[in-house]
Amino acid sequence: MSTPLSVEPSSLRIVQYPHPTLRHVSKPLRRVDPELRAIVRSMFELMYAASGVGLAANQVDLPYRLFVINTKSDPEAVEDEHVFINPVITSRKGMAEAEEGCLSLPGIYGQVKRPERVTLNAFNLSGEELNLQLEGLFARAVQHELDHLDGILFIDRLSPTGEMAVKEAVEDFESQFAGQRERGEIPDDETIAKRLTELEKLRT
Ligand code: ZN
Repeated sequence: MSTPLSVEPSSLRIVQYPHPTLRHVSKPLRRVDPELRAIVRSMFELMYAASGVGLAANQVDLPYRLFVINTKSDPEAVEDEHVFINPVITSRKGMAEAEEGCLSLPGIYGQVKRPERVTLNAFNLSGEELNLQLEGLFARAVQHELDHLDGILFIDRLSPTGEMAVKEAVEDFESQFAGQRERGEIPDDETIAKRLTELEKLRT
């Protein structure tokens, strides 16, 4: 378990639904320090290990507005690695439906409708401001990850039929989580909230 005032990057793990940090609305980052850079590196490694294309800070139990993306999910494709800090979508165009999954709900997939093209404003790790016009998988991944920073999961965006199709699998995650809580493997809500507040004080 992490101490309240710092994070050991190598101890980061992807949390699964319904971990409360996945419902946390994260706050903008005010500073980037060496520890945060190490956290970002560790997030990329966790994402690649799970064959994902994106990972948000909430998913590694951290309350910061940042996510990482590599639409190739390939550690060799360094040019496709992106870190987006304090991201905001400034324009949305069109609408497209495609299948999504989530590293916090492994094995669950569903069709999600989202704007097809978006303009993303964000900062990178070097503090440079970016304005990117995105489409396709990149645009979808960015919207999925940005949702995470607002405590929103892709299962919240399924159609009623889509929701019905995954209901049982989602409930399995809920019972697994209840079991982990009973065994003391996951702290109670109050302890988790207290830790997030401490981490926010540090960087937001
Ligand atoms: Zn996700």
